[in-house]
Amino acid sequence: MYFLSDIEHKQLLYQLLPTAREVGVSQELRGWSWHQPPLKPYFDNVKLPMYEVSSKYCPTNRDVYLRHIEKVYPVPSARMTLGKLFHGVVSDSLQAFLQRQELSFEDWWQKVRWQEIGEKPENVIAPCRKVWEFMQKTCEAKLAEVSCRQIHASELDLISSAVPFLVEHRISGELLGLSDVLSVDCYDYLRAIIFDLKVANVKEEWHRLYSVGYALVFESVHEVPVDICCTVYLNVEGSKISIQKDLFFANDELRQWWIEERDKKLEIVAERKDPGKPERSQCKDYCPYYGTCYG
Ligand code: SF4
Repeated sequence: MYFLSDIEHKQLLYQLLPTAREVGVSQELRGWSWHQPPLKPYFDNVKLPMYEVSSKYCPTNRDVYLRHIEKVYPVPSARMTLGKLFHGVVSDSLQAFLQRQELSFEDWWQKVRWQEIGEKPENVIAPCRKVWEFMQKTCEAKLAEVSCRQIHASELDLISSAVPFLVEHRISGELLGLSDVLSVDCYDYLRAIIFDLKVANVKEEWHRLYSVGYALVFESVHEVPVDICCTVYLNVEGSKISIQKDLFFANDELRQWWIEERDKKLEIVAERKDPGKPERSQCKDYCPYYGTCYG
């Protein structure tokens, strides 16, 4: 899922990294500049989760107002719960591999809380198993490749080199006006890439905001530069899975866009301002607040 293909690796080495080195990132837009504008949050008393700052499915951000001010908590849509399920398959299978746990797909499947998933188990077991097996096979192949090159390395060292991922890394976004319990889908600590997993078949420009936001948070806490981000699109149709990646340079423009989004949303909550509704045609029918706005 998070391993780069040969072509993506070439793109990283010959396109993205040279651009990042040549163009660079402005110091005031590095996460470690959280104590000064423009990164310093204007409203100290509000903290938001990353998905609210980075999500752009509501054109006016009324979803943020409804959740925080009107206290509307809609039932998550089937689409959202399925996304959560596939996130779980990916992260749990990777964690099991990294920790050398004897956890089979069947063991994992038994622990899924189906009452929280808006889908029948029989409709999703095949793609879930496929993703689980895919993760295990690709990790084993990487480990075998590294093992035969480093015959004196310990198992721990081999795993760390072959699968260099921090998975569901817990980190606080407090310095940037975010929640203190954020979770990064994956961070490749050898290549310094933040990955964000999306279970979706439509790519949107604003999907990049999630990993850019995590890159800023990472820089604010760990004080290391993160120049490269990647959105991984996992699409499941029947028993078939497809994985596409959007690998990009987290440049000044994207960082500024993320800061603008954060500031607009913090202001809505701090000042209790209803931003109103857009033209109805702009609202997505899968929006969980559709019934509240148009019921
Ligand atoms: S229904 Fe429209 S206005 Fe209301 S929260 Fe959803 S996208 Fe925003």
